[in-house]
Amino acid sequence: MKAAFFNDHGGPEVIQVGECPNPEPGEREVRVEVKAASLNHLDLWVRRGLPGLKLEMPHIGGSDMAGVIDTVGPEVTGWEPGDRVVVNPGVWCGTCEWCKRGQHPLCVSYQILGEHVAGGFAELAVVPVTSLYRIPEEFPFEKAAASALVYQTAWRGLVTQGGLQPGETVLVTGASGGVSTAAIQISKHFGARVFAVTSGPENMARVQRLGADLVIDRLEEDFSKRVWKETGKRGVDLVLDSVGEATWENCIRALSRLGRMVVYGATTGPGGHVNIARLFWSQTKIMGSTMATQAEFERVMDLVVRGELHPVIDAVWSLGQVKEAHERLEAGGVFGKLVIAP
Ligand SMILES: [Zn+2]
Repeated sequence: MKAAFFNDHGGPEVIQVGECPNPEPGEREVRVEVKAASLNHLDLWVRRGLPGLKLEMPHIGGSDMAGVIDTVGPEVTGWEPGDRVVVNPGVWCGTCEWCKRGQHPLCVSYQILGEHVAGGFAELAVVPVTSLYRIPEEFPFEKAAASALVYQTAWRGLVTQGGLQPGETVLVTGASGGVSTAAIQISKHFGARVFAVTSGPENMARVQRLGADLVIDRLEEDFSKRVWKETGKRGVDLVLDSVGEATWENCIRALSRLGRMVVYGATTGPGGHVNIARLFWSQTKIMGSTMATQAEFERVMDLVVRGELHPVIDAVWSLGQVKEAHERLEAGGVFGKLVIAP
């Protein structure tokens, strides 16, 4: 099969496109003929190399994929060749304490397709049967592949961890990113009032079109001060952030009393200071979130395939353009998702 892979960590130049052996499905696995895959920032970090991540080379990236089942492995029931699917990028053991509690992303041996094991930047990919979601006949593969990781991450962060309620005010930072664009839509779906932080007039206009009630240009003003002003010195009920160090203190400052802040990444660095006195006086909660359970994934994908949430696709490229896609995402300025159609 044809695939985009790398043999060494490094810059985008390590990515090659060529022939790889066809993967064979094992027990409770299926092989998917990949029709669309999408790029995440995770792909860039995996390519550069992450501490403690030891990969089998050559490594095929791409956590998000959608396609048609091509072969089913032993002990697979309910699925057959020809079924149209999108794949939850999470892989879990099913037997540890956290899996038994249904908390798949907390599995002690949790893995992500395209990160720890081969992903979807290939003509074929082998995935666990537990991660499949059936997509309707008319639903485009590109949209499905653009949804899986970002919508589940936004859903668990806002709804499960963040406890989002109708009528609340939500602040989303880094608003042009994949998870953030999903988060703005999910918040609006819940009937929340959404403040979004982004940069530059072009992103401002795009974020506005997604339905954000107030868009703040972080290059023009201090977003926490603006939030304070817009809410009559009350603050927002919920903050969703993955920027990390650079926005940490401003995010906490933007919270209302009893406010909740959910972090699902730390792009600008993992350090952050907390004023403990402020924390107990305002009785706020700061919590983490990553990926989602299969139940959360299925719930949010139901909304995507019903057309209630709208995946944002920046561009659709071929397998031969995976290197260029890495360069483009790395350079910034991508709005929504870059999709690869093998
Ligand atoms: Zn487990």
